[in-house]
Amino acid sequence: MTDEEQQQDGQDESSGEHCGIFTIPGSQGIQGAWRDITYVPVRDNIWSVSEGIYRTIFVEGDRGVIAFDTLGTPGGARAYGGAIARVFPKKPVHTIVYSHEHLDHAGYAADLAGEADIVAHQLCNQVILGRKSDGQLPGTEIWSGERKQYKIDGVEFELIYPGPTHGDGNVAAYFPQSKLLFMVDTVIPGVGYTFFPDWHLSPYVPVMRRFLSLDWDTFVPGHFWITDRKGFEDSLEYYDQMAEIAQEAIGAGLDVDDFVEVTKYTYEHLQPKFGNFFRFDEYCAMNLSRYMTHYLTGGWGIEGNMTADTSPL
Ligand SMILES: [Zn+2]
Repeated sequence: MTDEEQQQDGQDESSGEHCGIFTIPGSQGIQGAWRDITYVPVRDNIWSVSEGIYRTIFVEGDRGVIAFDTLGTPGGARAYGGAIARVFPKKPVHTIVYSHEHLDHAGYAADLAGEADIVAHQLCNQVILGRKSDGQLPGTEIWSGERKQYKIDGVEFELIYPGPTHGDGNVAAYFPQSKLLFMVDTVIPGVGYTFFPDWHLSPYVPVMRRFLSLDWDTFVPGHFWITDRKGFEDSLEYYDQMAEIAQEAIGAGLDVDDFVEVTKYTYEHLQPKFGNFFRFDEYCAMNLSRYMTHYLTGGWGIEGNMTADTSPL
C-alpha cells in the first residue's frame, strides 16, 4: 500500500466515526479515543461501570444484557460494550434504556449496540428526534407518564419519571427486589456539577424527595461512586441550603456578575459547612452563581416553572 493509499484508508476509517452534533469537518480524535472502564458487581444481576467520572449500570438477563445509557463518546460506548462483553462474553446487549437525552450519557447507542431495542421516555425521545445527533439512536420502545413496569429477558424493573429534574424525560430505574435505585445527573456525591446545566431548580428537590417513599437502600448515580439513602438525602439538603444562601447573597448585595466576589462569598459563607464536600473548590462558587441567577431571572423554560406533583410515589 502506498503512503497515499494508507492516508486515504485512514481518512475513510476516521470519517466513519459518529460526530454527535459537531459541525466542523473531520473526526475529532478525542471522540473516538478508547476509555478505560472499571466494572463492579453491585447486587444480584446488576453491575456498574465507570470511566472515572461517568457511571452507569448493566443488567444480566437470561439470553443477553440490558445496558443503561451508552456513555458519552463513540470510543466510550465501544469501551462500555467491551466491558460488558468481558463480564458476559456470550450475552449480547439486546436492550438499551436511556436515562435522559443528553449526549454525554446517552449519545452513542450506534457505537454500543446499534441493533438493540431502545427504551426511552417520550419526553426524552422528543428531544432526540429533534436533535438528530449522529450516533444517538431514537427510542424503539417509547413510554410516557410517570411509571412503567418492565420484564425484559427475565429482568424485572420499573422506570419512573418523577417530574422535571434535569434534562428532558429524566427517569430513574427502580429494582424493588434488589432495593436499588439508579438515576443520572441528579444526586451525586459532593457539591453539584458546575453551573447545574439543564437543571430545573424549582421542582428539583421536591420531585427527587418522592423517591424516599420507595423501599431501596442503594443509590447508583450517573457520576462518581455509589451511595445510599443518607448520601441521597444529604445531597438534597445541600441543594435546599444553596437555595437559601443564594437568596441571602442577593439580599446582601452580592453582584452575581462579579465571579471574583461570588467566589469570595462562597469561601466566607459556605466553606465552614460544605468545605469538605467533594469538588467544593472546583464547583461551589458556580453552584451559588447559578442559584442566584435562578432567583434573579425566575428560572428557565416550562420545566423550571411548572408546578410539579410532589406526592409520594
Ligand atoms: Zn445530563
